[in-house]
Amino acid sequence: MYRSNTCGELRLSDKDKIVTLAGWVQTVRKFGSITFVDLRDRYGITQLLFSESHNADLDANPLGREFVLQVKGKVNERSNKNNNIPTGEIEIVVSEFKILNKSAVPPFTIQDDTDGGDDIRMKYRYLDLRRNAVKKNLELRYQVNRAARNYLHENNFMDIETPFLIKSTPEGARDFVVPSRMNPGQFYALPQSPQTFKQLLMVSGYDRYYQIVKCFRDEDLRADRQPEFTQIDCEMAFVEQEDILNMFEGLVKRIFKDVKDINYTETVERMTWEEAMWQYGNDKPDIRFGIKLCNLKFPAHTFPAKENISSLIAGDFAVFNDAETVIAISVPGCSEYSRKQTDELTEWVKRPQIGMKGLAFIKCNADGTFKSSVDKFYSEDKLKAIAEAASAKAGDLVLILAGAEERTRKASSELRMYMADKLGMRKPDDFKLLWVLDFPLFEYDEEGNRWVARHHPFTSPKPDHIEVMINNNPVIADAAKYLEHPYANIKANAYDMVLNGNEIGGGSIRIHQRELQEKMFAALGMDAEEQQHKFGFLLGAFEYGAPPHGGIAFGFDRLCSIMGGSESIRDFIAFPKNNSGRDVMLDAPASIDEKQFEELQIKLNLK
Ligand code: ASP
Repeated sequence: MYRSNTCGELRLSDKDKIVTLAGWVQTVRKFGSITFVDLRDRYGITQLLFSESHNADLDANPLGREFVLQVKGKVNERSNKNNNIPTGEIEIVVSEFKILNKSAVPPFTIQDDTDGGDDIRMKYRYLDLRRNAVKKNLELRYQVNRAARNYLHENNFMDIETPFLIKSTPEGARDFVVPSRMNPGQFYALPQSPQTFKQLLMVSGYDRYYQIVKCFRDEDLRADRQPEFTQIDCEMAFVEQEDILNMFEGLVKRIFKDVKDINYTETVERMTWEEAMWQYGNDKPDIRFGIKLCNLKFPAHTFPAKENISSLIAGDFAVFNDAETVIAISVPGCSEYSRKQTDELTEWVKRPQIGMKGLAFIKCNADGTFKSSVDKFYSEDKLKAIAEAASAKAGDLVLILAGAEERTRKASSELRMYMADKLGMRKPDDFKLLWVLDFPLFEYDEEGNRWVARHHPFTSPKPDHIEVMINNNPVIADAAKYLEHPYANIKANAYDMVLNGNEIGGGSIRIHQRELQEKMFAALGMDAEEQQHKFGFLLGAFEYGAPPHGGIAFGFDRLCSIMGGSESIRDFIAFPKNNSGRDVMLDAPASIDEKQFEELQIKLNLK
């Protein structure tokens, strides 16, 4: 027996017991004839006392950090108690010990406030994983996993594995490919998601499927993306959108309860994609705070149902007159911003990432007067009317951006978040869920001057938009006017779940009739031959009694990081890749042997 107890287990009630512990040496502190050693394992830390007065033969001198140790001794009440750790009232008076393995001096200290930088910790990830901070994240990940599995199991979902060596699945990214030795010159693709498989399982009658599964996407890695990541992937048959929203709202609430002990009892708010873009400039808005966009000017075809209030800014100000879009936000309590502070905001919106040319503002003074950077062009009455349209109150600061539609809307959203961060309105432990519904079915691909599926090609159009899809030619005659093409306004039965401004899940009601699926592929520019080559299996399956179905996938890594109050998904993955997609511990990707190339009958010809 290597141990009778763990290093996190013993308490004062165990006093005088003879125990055996095993673990790693965290620290060694020598005081004359006695030595204290902190022994660590996954469960905690226990203080060991090596004392000549108890056993003169014990020599703790050879012990170093991270040595693996087995000790036997008696549980003793500590004279100097440590209330910060659960075992802090006791120590083990060591009578025997054995070094199970030595350790080289670790490249960084294995403690919460480590001296190791990111790179070194990634290189020695197996040591980094010994640290509490990382362990706590993996524990949380496991809890989220368990909560999800329990909920899905209780609701009759079946975990069914799907293959990794497959043919390309179109989720909008590049595939990772794997050469096949047995089929020279042919390649598997790693799944970007199990999308088509889970749909086939519906055809097979497994009406509630789930999998906590790896997905692979060869994308340029923006911060916080991993080339392989995990999804909670789900699909249901004989359901409408409403059934899916209820079921998976329940899943996330269950995770909140089991992992954070939060009773999220309120119904999750819902908002259409169009409304999200209109009010927040973003399809994954953080709705924990207000600061909604006031659309002073916008191109009519983008929001045909919305009221035009551009007369409010009519006047001699060329910047507003020339702009396609003008958007104001009202920031509470900031009317007394100094020149320096408004200059700083102007610089911020001019940064290339935001890309605006400038920023106008109106200070709504507490005494009811208005002061503005565009005083010259607008009377006080006009300023007041603009401020009122933006729902500003006395004491607020109205910030106004002007420019091209897409950029200005995005910048307004970013500015809204930036100000909310400044004002402490985004607290990590305040959770707010939101369903965003009715996404556009298509997205314009500038490079190819064509339509691509915004979600994926298996998502169904809203029933009353099917005709528009079928009866209109997808060809975009004038690229500059793509927004005026009837396809731009077709909406899909697609939904995203948003948590605190992050998309945590997304899915759709699928197409389940061969004919409509063919029409969809055709709308995306695929002729019959290409359809057959890429998706013949699915079109074929749809001929054998495919039930109506739909599903969703949650980004598991991100969900964990939000639950853990962190920005970084890497912290919640045991062995993550760095920003260039490298595993610096394995030093992968790497070249392979000449022999392997020969077996694959592949000759490298790098450009
Ligand atoms: N497969 C989709 C995705 O990865 C999710 C879904 O539609 O269920 O985004």
